[in-house]
Amino acid sequence: MVRRIVIVGGGSAGWLTAGLIAADHQGSSLHITLIESPDIAPIGVGEGTWPSMRDTLRRIGVSESDFFRECDASFKQGSRFNRWVTGADNDYYFHPFVLPQGYDEVNLPEQWLAQHPDIPFADLVSYQPHLCVNGRAPKQVVTPEFSSVANYGYHLDAGKFGVFLRKHCLEKLGVHYVPDNVAGVASHDNGDIAALHTQAHGALEGDLFIDCTGMQSLLLGKHYQVPFLSQKHVLYNDTALAVQVPYPDDNYPIASQTSSTAQSAGWIWDIGLPTRRGVGHVYSSAHIGGEQAEAELRRYISDTGGPQDIPPPRKLSFNPGYRERFWHRNCVAIGLSAGFIEPLEASALALAEMSAAMVSDELPATRAAMDIVAARFNEAFTYRWERVIDFLKLHYVLSQRRDSDYWRDNTASVPERLGDLLTLWRHRAPSRNDFNRIEEVFPWASYQYVLYGMGFRSEFTNPQPRQAALADGYFREAAELTHKMLGGLPDNRTLINHIKRHGLQKI
Ligand SMILES: Cc1cc2nc3c(=O)[nH]c(=O)nc-3n(C[C@H](O)[C@H](O)[C@H](O)COP(=O)(O)OP(=O)(O)OC[C@H]3O[C@@H](n4cnc5c(N)ncnc54)[C@H](O)[C@@H]3O)c2cc1C
Repeated sequence: MVRRIVIVGGGSAGWLTAGLIAADHQGSSLHITLIESPDIAPIGVGEGTWPSMRDTLRRIGVSESDFFRECDASFKQGSRFNRWVTGADNDYYFHPFVLPQGYDEVNLPEQWLAQHPDIPFADLVSYQPHLCVNGRAPKQVVTPEFSSVANYGYHLDAGKFGVFLRKHCLEKLGVHYVPDNVAGVASHDNGDIAALHTQAHGALEGDLFIDCTGMQSLLLGKHYQVPFLSQKHVLYNDTALAVQVPYPDDNYPIASQTSSTAQSAGWIWDIGLPTRRGVGHVYSSAHIGGEQAEAELRRYISDTGGPQDIPPPRKLSFNPGYRERFWHRNCVAIGLSAGFIEPLEASALALAEMSAAMVSDELPATRAAMDIVAARFNEAFTYRWERVIDFLKLHYVLSQRRDSDYWRDNTASVPERLGDLLTLWRHRAPSRNDFNRIEEVFPWASYQYVLYGMGFRSEFTNPQPRQAALADGYFREAAELTHKMLGGLPDNRTLINHIKRHGLQKI
């Protein structure tokens, strides 16, 4: 029987996994232990989430108001991509979280090109880019915890998030905490892990071991030697420089979206928290050196209202890729130990949430059932990692920028499946037929936002003019909702200040 779960790692992935499994199985005989090294700090970046995090936090049982207060959190309503298409100052588009109005009923891209080709696609079909441009919050003070008026995820302080989850897991969910270093693995004859040797707490036995040890992938990578599939030939970014940037004053507006501004050999993320911005340059070290990358980061910060004299940025290196399989014998990897590509579109925490949820939902009752669950898990997540790569690469291959080797090289390496899709999309829009799994990582509407945001134009060879009136109705609906929401939604800082003082109503 599977009764004892041992999680190694106390970063966001470890605590999210512990929280989800413990909350879902409260009252059962499951015993959950989390071992965290007191010597190795969590990575401390990873500040943008998807709307899925709302479900995850609700499921774990935390209060959203406490989360805002303790994690320096703000609202994220999508991403804004600056200078990705041509590199010009006025070049930008949105990938909002809200799906286009009527996207399931009408071929919006065709009618967009027929009726309003001069308006950016996302601005025509969704109210959310307008909320972002105007810095509006996605809900009102009376909207209960985790509910929304406009779909949203979060920006958060990664360090504070881990502490917040740990407190909840220990105080409310009965997770057993062992602050110690794992120094060795004891195996059963069949190769399963029997116990982990810790420096101060001896051997900790378990039935299922969850590797959340970050990039070192202690159990799946180092112990089991499951091969790592590097994706550097497709997505070149392998280094990041991260800094925290103060606001000029306490009332400075908090952005409603993650901004991603393309550079000569990478891009800069800009995430607005209530007390500071988190800014970082992620780039390809094969295309530029650290000094130039830092100079571009400093220039960006001073151009966007930050101080000239920021402290030296923190440098993080990573090899983009993922493991050949994620669940091997009685060990499953979640978080950076399973893989990491790059932070564009912030898919890492979302994959960790999906992985933890699947482990919890499918928790095998016995060792005999575990191999079946593991095979399904591996199939599901291999598919998901491949889709993440396709979707991220979509942002690069469509760029018209040719101002550096980085941008020129990026159009020369297109994954086969993405190449096939681009061939199809020359004459039709991305549709549900392209992405038909129940839990796709990115819905086909996201592909439409990025494809058309990046300047791609499908030539519809079988036009459906009868849809014109229906589409016009949805375009008007998006415009009316924009007007209504701009009139009724507070700005981000006003709502966040309210939450900090009074909290949100519980559901
Ligand atoms: C530059 C950058 C930007 C990112 N931005 C985003 C973003 O915007 N959105 C997003 O979703 N994700 C982002 N990510 C990814 C995100 O940071 C991670 O997915 C997330 O923080 C989870 O990390 P983790 O818990 O897997 O690993 P870590 O935070 O590295 O935690 C590893 C844990 O393992 C423990 N450990 C290691 N070895 C041992 C041992 N021997 N014994 C005991 N314990 C051990 C450590 O103590 C630590 O607690 C970003 C990543 C990078 C590199």
